[in-house]
Amino acid sequence: MARIGFVGLGRMGAPMARNLLRAGHQVVVFDIVQPAVDAVVEAGATAGFSAAAAAAEADFVITMLPAGEHVRDAWLGQGGLAKAARQGALLMDCSTIDVATARDVAAKAGQPFIDAPVSGGVMGAEAGTLTFMVGGSDDAVARARPILEAMGKTIVHCGEAGAGQVAKLCNNMMLAATMAVTSEAFVMAEKLGLSAQALYDVCSKSTAQSWALNTYCPVPGPAPGSPANRDYAPGFTAALMRKDLGLAQQAAKDAGVETPVGALALALFDRFVDGGGGGKDFSGIIAMIREGKG
Ligand code: NAD
Repeated sequence: MARIGFVGLGRMGAPMARNLLRAGHQVVVFDIVQPAVDAVVEAGATAGFSAAAAAAEADFVITMLPAGEHVRDAWLGQGGLAKAARQGALLMDCSTIDVATARDVAAKAGQPFIDAPVSGGVMGAEAGTLTFMVGGSDDAVARARPILEAMGKTIVHCGEAGAGQVAKLCNNMMLAATMAVTSEAFVMAEKLGLSAQALYDVCSKSTAQSWALNTYCPVPGPAPGSPANRDYAPGFTAALMRKDLGLAQQAAKDAGVETPVGALALALFDRFVDGGGGGKDFSGIIAMIREGKG
């Protein structure tokens, strides 16, 4: 049993914290939104009166926050977690943030720090089947592994600090572009008189197969579990996908790499979100493409 401080109890953080409790850990939680704290306290956590208080006695301190500025402020700002954590604690951030901030926070934290962004969405967080992409030293990652295993199924050590974020941003750039072109193919098939089921039956077994097609198919019917079957309720929102695509473009620019397909995916998701699709699942972009606004 470990003592864990957990900060950020949103759609992802709350179920992750509950899985730590289920695994028998002692969890002290904090969020700036009181009902979010209350919900996890009901499941057996203790409420910290601040982020620093949640971290003070912990062996492991975890953040799951919206974006880089929140993560920087939570760890390095006034009364931040890096100072509040006791010596010897292992620090980890599971949010999806920009690579530069991830590296900077790890460098300035003053003790072992890993970035461990996740894939698998709210469903994966609830089921404890997340994939963690981890950046940090061998030692730190080995120590973190049993804690991550209480929240996820696959833990991949990607490299040094920031490598987890690089993997996450590359993954989501590929996913977004694949979903956009898969949607185009379904609309094209529709207009040319090929049924969605026939296209699925061929492509899900052929060289075009992908998670976006096989599991998360953007039209209702062929993959019964996909958000298309529930009017594109998320899932993974288009707003979050746009955020990740923006981070991917920033990382590519910083590295001097041209990613025209990634840039186009960002432009498409910009248009979809600006048109009101931000709260829909990202596979809902097929509606925009069907209307000819792609
Ligand atoms: P969310 O907005 O639901 O939750 C964020 C939580 O952080 C909120 O409860 C908010 O009150 C809290 N918070 C903000 N600032 C805080 C502070 N200073 N101190 C304490 N709490 C603070 O977001 P989410 O969907 O849980 O996502 C969290 C992270 O995980 C994001 O970086 C997101 O990109 C990433 N992610 C999300 C999904 C998904 O499907 N939702 C999937 C993979 C990764």
